[in-house]
Amino acid sequence: MSASYAHILKPLHLGFTTIKNRVVMGSMHTGLEDRFYNYPKLAAYFGERAKGGVGLIITGGISPNRQGWLLPAGGTMNTLGDIAPHRLVTHAVHKHGAKILMQILHAGRYGYQPFVVSSSPIKSPISPFKPRQMTEKQILQTIADYAYTAKLAKRAGYDGVEIMGSEGYLLNQFLSRHVNQRQDRWGGDIQNRMRFSLEIVKAIREAVGEKFIICFRLSLLDLVHDGNTMSEVIVIAQALEKAGISLLNTGIGWHEARIPTIVTSVPRAAFVDYTAEVKKHVSVPVIASNRINMPETAEKILASGQADMVQMARPLLADAYWVNKTATNRVDEINTCIACNQACLDHTFKNQRATCLVNPRAAYETELVYVKTKKAKRIAVVGAGVAGMSAATVAASRGHAVTLFEAAAEVGGQFNLAKVVPGKEEFHETIRYFKVQIEKTGVELRLNTRVNREQLEREGFDEVIVATGVIPRGLKIEGSDAPQVLSYAEVLRGAPVGLRVAVIGAGGIGFDVSEYLLKPEQQPQPLPLADWQREWGIDPNPHYYSEGGMQAAEVEAPVRQIYLMQRKTTTLGAGLGKTSGWVHRAQLKKHAVKMLRGVQYKAVTDEGLWIESNGHDQLLRVDTIVVCAGQESVKDIMPAAEQNTLAKYHIIGGAKLAAELDAKRAIREGAELAAKL
Ligand code: NAP
Ligand code: SF4
Repeated sequence: MSASYAHILKPLHLGFTTIKNRVVMGSMHTGLEDRFYNYPKLAAYFGERAKGGVGLIITGGISPNRQGWLLPAGGTMNTLGDIAPHRLVTHAVHKHGAKILMQILHAGRYGYQPFVVSSSPIKSPISPFKPRQMTEKQILQTIADYAYTAKLAKRAGYDGVEIMGSEGYLLNQFLSRHVNQRQDRWGGDIQNRMRFSLEIVKAIREAVGEKFIICFRLSLLDLVHDGNTMSEVIVIAQALEKAGISLLNTGIGWHEARIPTIVTSVPRAAFVDYTAEVKKHVSVPVIASNRINMPETAEKILASGQADMVQMARPLLADAYWVNKTATNRVDEINTCIACNQACLDHTFKNQRATCLVNPRAAYETELVYVKTKKAKRIAVVGAGVAGMSAATVAASRGHAVTLFEAAAEVGGQFNLAKVVPGKEEFHETIRYFKVQIEKTGVELRLNTRVNREQLEREGFDEVIVATGVIPRGLKIEGSDAPQVLSYAEVLRGAPVGLRVAVIGAGGIGFDVSEYLLKPEQQPQPLPLADWQREWGIDPNPHYYSEGGMQAAEVEAPVRQIYLMQRKTTTLGAGLGKTSGWVHRAQLKKHAVKMLRGVQYKAVTDEGLWIESNGHDQLLRVDTIVVCAGQESVKDIMPAAEQNTLAKYHIIGGAKLAAELDAKRAIREGAELAAKL
């Protein structure tokens, strides 16, 4: 057991039960919980995390009734018939000594379905359905539903339940004036607004007895107007304790808040001071959450007494063995969550199964299986970007002899460019993870080696995986070979850029490059917490008196004047991830980036860039033009189909398809191919 992480690994005694360490796998909706026939997959997913050492798991949200559904016919527990599939989950987790809570989530006005209800009939900005105001009778029935659901959860073998009271869901809609405008005993002052949550806790405690964990997830920082103050949050926390909770979990920001709380640009452990503030006022164990992804951060929070447990959901999707690796001093082997949201939350919002960009096995444990090979082959992988590294390390872990060729002096490919973008520093971790995996799995890495097909044939490999990636697409207009025209790759590698810039192409990389160019070079990265709070208007006082913890944002003047443009007439950034795109759009807007759409590029001259916009020629007086116009595949090594008769050459990632260049697809394709060879 690692002495360096003694606080993470210390058991937590709750009197009637003990949790073996301080790591909580937080609730994350995978989509598997909504259909009974997916429970074997859900059991494998949680079972693997329990095997990986986590102390306590909290399931995705299960509704206590039909009005509470997040999506039509979402996971519900309100009849005896709902219990059986859950037993698979609780059994899979208990087998490895972990504990598991079922989260009871009533979506309120966040539901994407016509039965939605709330404290007051105020539509949310994130669902098209206007809620009906709950009547006294409906409120009392809902309290009874929560209690019955908890009772059924106990019968299904759960160690407890978590009541979802944060992130803007139903109970939060009662707790805060942002939605609750009632005049009856369920609205008005904080004593009335918290009545619903307290009655639910009391009813559940009465239904399940003393020896059952009740965890309440409370919003510490609403980040919406008319949100609660910290004094109100503390009043609620103390009342919940009195009502009978066993654990107090913490949530940050409503889903509709326009301040980022979990994306990669949020500094690690950004909100833990608010948790520490609440902890001073209660005696039940308190759980810290949001942007805790590596053991150093978790240990510091626990050792300093800011919280009793740390919650991670996405980091445990990224690496099921996070705790065991920490316990055995193998932190450098952790596959770190880079907080990109691309395969987890963005999937959930599109009603697709959640998984993980850096770990395509997450929620696919029974489908993507790495079995030791009985017939070791000699495999060449050409290109050590994320697609190549994924293929090479999975193939080697299965027992194949793998040689990984890379023309550059370092591994990482496009991730080496991404990691210098402000707020994307976490991308370093993925490169570190793969470097360690290359070493541990025994992949032979040949850097600075550009191979051709003849050399590969001469070495007699059984299989060749072509992962040679992409090159940036150039601009083909008059004057585009001028020195002031740079590719995004040149810029991110440090080429000098003038003070007035035109960025051509407004995909993910056009946005990234614009953000990179807005900031002064000497600005420390990641951004210090105080600067980040100022930039987004978050009250830094842990005992804040401002509504919802918000104050006016202070934006530094940008160091450059930037035009970001595209030929399409759609909104710029419309194709970015649902949960992160708005953050990028807001950043550029705040820094006065001029966004132009429906543009045609005409010529580059000494004066700048000539474009046609709205039928008129226009000169943008810029010093530098940065081309972010997508990529083209590099696949010279790949033989034509008729020459590949033995199907020994395989192509993956950007080399296969540049149009949808995407790290999620690249890593998954590498892993899926290597699992089959
Ligand atoms: P992209 O998303 O395909 O965007 C390419 C941009 O270039 C578009 O705005 C396109 O708009 C323009 N374009 C295409 N062909 C052009 C041409 N011949 N001349 C001028 N403009 C042209 O590609 P990307 O920005 O390079 O990003 C690559 C991938 O990286 C993305 O698919 C994404 O998965 C990933 N990525 C995501 C993020 C993020 O979500 N934050 C960040 C970075 C990278 P018009 O055709 O309208 O001009
Ligand atoms: Fe983390 Fe991205 Fe994986 Fe989600 S998809 S768990 S944010 S690395």
